[in-house]
Amino acid sequence: MRRSFTFLLRPTAKQAAALAQCLEDHRELYNAALEHRRTAYRKAGVTVRYGEQSAELKHIRTDDPNGQGRWSFSSQQATLRRLDKAYRAFFDRVKAGRTPGFPRFKGRGRFDTVEWPKDGDGCRWDSQPEHPTATYVRLQGIGHVRVYQHRRVLGIVKTISVKREGARWFVVLSCDEVPAHPLPATGAVAGVDMGVAWLATTSDGDHLDNQRHLATSASRLAAAQRELARRKRGSKRRRKAVARVAALHAKVRRQRLDAAHKAALALVGGYDVIVHETLNVAGMTRRAAPKPDGEGGYLPNRQAAKSGLNKSILDAGWSAFLTILSHKAESAGRQLIAVNPANTSRTCSRCGHCAKDNRVTQAVFRCTACGHEAHADVNAATNILRAGLALREAAQAA
Ligand SMILES: [Zn+2]
Repeated sequence: MRRSFTFLLRPTAKQAAALAQCLEDHRELYNAALEHRRTAYRKAGVTVRYGEQSAELKHIRTDDPNGQGRWSFSSQQATLRRLDKAYRAFFDRVKAGRTPGFPRFKGRGRFDTVEWPKDGDGCRWDSQPEHPTATYVRLQGIGHVRVYQHRRVLGIVKTISVKREGARWFVVLSCDEVPAHPLPATGAVAGVDMGVAWLATTSDGDHLDNQRHLATSASRLAAAQRELARRKRGSKRRRKAVARVAALHAKVRRQRLDAAHKAALALVGGYDVIVHETLNVAGMTRRAAPKPDGEGGYLPNRQAAKSGLNKSILDAGWSAFLTILSHKAESAGRQLIAVNPANTSRTCSRCGHCAKDNRVTQAVFRCTACGHEAHADVNAATNILRAGLALREAAQAA
């Protein structure tokens, strides 16, 4: 199986400057290639493809030995392929009848990753293996950069990317043939409801990861964004405000990933079969929308809970959680089943009666037909489990 590993880089000041220059040159290359495609189409109705742009790259490098010529040919090709992918996605959406945005020029701060598509080609993971304590990655034009390797890398390193997040640099390794670690069977199955107060609640009644820390970060982020909006363009204070917003975004991302890892680990450790809801945009809006009957306000800061910012943080948290859960489940040999979440929160898990009034508050479920009372998330998780097991039975019978 394929998996990625992310590590913090510890570049020297000189290396950090080179990394920034490398990123900037790749951004310029991307924008120039986009300009080329647009002009050719506008002036002559000609569609320029990846192959021609890649061939052109040789001349660009020869003409600019101290600029574009410094970096890896392959990482530059990867950047051109990235543009090609943006174009393909654009045309796919046009074909699907939607009205997509045309691929855009990348402004400063909108381009933060460079990829080397093959370990050993313009880059080398663990480039100084003889070093007794430290790990290094060699990047063409930048040198041997020290890596804070906080965990073991498994499998075979395929691609190496460098990513900027605020003032920090990370290396991302995409590895193939990562050995799976099947876990012993537990004989247990669970449904999982993803919510606002808790990231996940199981049909057994376990609540995983309280999301309160996210609410705190969200209100700080909102304050930082208001601060940013007040600052004059080009001012020093605005630059500071931008950095603060970026740092808070990064913090939220780390908290979210950490929470998702822990919750997924607990589930995969405890259950052979895990059933979860399919995430869809409509479903997300439904869950986080404020309700006039007193639902929705669950987090300490009620305003923040209802704001769009907090909602987007929760939405991203659920999809990050499902991604991590699916990786861990695959590695552990667990079965993951996705079900349609329609009505799971308003249907009684004991008698099947489905009514809006069953849901007394965000936390309490009380069936108006049979009187069954439960934590609303546990009731939903039980319905999710039942739907998943029915799907599995149908699939086995077929
Ligand atoms: Zn009932």
